[in-house]
Amino acid sequence: MLVDTHLHLDMKPFDQDREQVLERALECGIGYMISIGIDLTSSIKALQLAHQYDAVYSTIGYHPHHAGDMDTQTLRELSRLVSDPKIVAWGEIGLDFFRRHSPPEIQRKVFKQQLEMALDIDLPVIIHDRDAHEELLDILIKTGKRRHKGVIHCFSGDYALAMILIGMGYYISIPGTVTYKNAFQIQEVATRIPLEKMLLETDAPYLAPVPKRGKRNEPSFVTYTANMVAQLRDITVQELCRQTTDNAKTLFNLPDSP
Ligand SMILES: [Zn+2]
Ligand SMILES: [Zn+2]
Repeated sequence: MLVDTHLHLDMKPFDQDREQVLERALECGIGYMISIGIDLTSSIKALQLAHQYDAVYSTIGYHPHHAGDMDTQTLRELSRLVSDPKIVAWGEIGLDFFRRHSPPEIQRKVFKQQLEMALDIDLPVIIHDRDAHEELLDILIKTGKRRHKGVIHCFSGDYALAMILIGMGYYISIPGTVTYKNAFQIQEVATRIPLEKMLLETDAPYLAPVPKRGKRNEPSFVTYTANMVAQLRDITVQELCRQTTDNAKTLFNLPDSP
């Protein structure tokens, strides 16, 4: 069994064939898929899908791109969803200084607010970090009095940063980019971090792994990522699947079987 710990199943590119996408994933042994919210609307949609399909779980949160749209009202509505048993994390939240769809100072404020709320209610966080390593780490350290629990999704830092975050209690999620030629940094991270701290994800519909690079990504493609990481670490795919699935079950408190 494998878990795709990060995808956006509610998004438009899946509107035509969502059912088949899910079927293919189940056929490939993807036991669980975690559909990630990026604002109030997508969080609600993702939760609806989670109620529709046993293998799908979901999250709530405001992505840094949409940080400008979050206000006290929407935050209150988000937190009302938390008690739903199909909600397994808060995210994705974080900083994105690459695209800067929202001004940095708003991103910081909205990230901190959600991070503190999630940590206070002991819900794992799903963190997005693009070109913001130092500041993100700084914010995490400053909220350090609480017990940190979560994952840095689509990890793009180096091995040293990965180990600092692991030391704080975070998991590191390896995306399909690890299969790209010349992706030396993420390949090093995938090779060297403790297997007990690794998750796998697609971030579908984005970032399809080789040999599907450039196409729409989908949850079944997480198998390509798994094969690549097993190869890098010189272990069997079975061993990699077993451990990363255990990790996902532990972090997100998923049942033993869907
Ligand atoms: Zn992201
Ligand atoms: Zn995402």
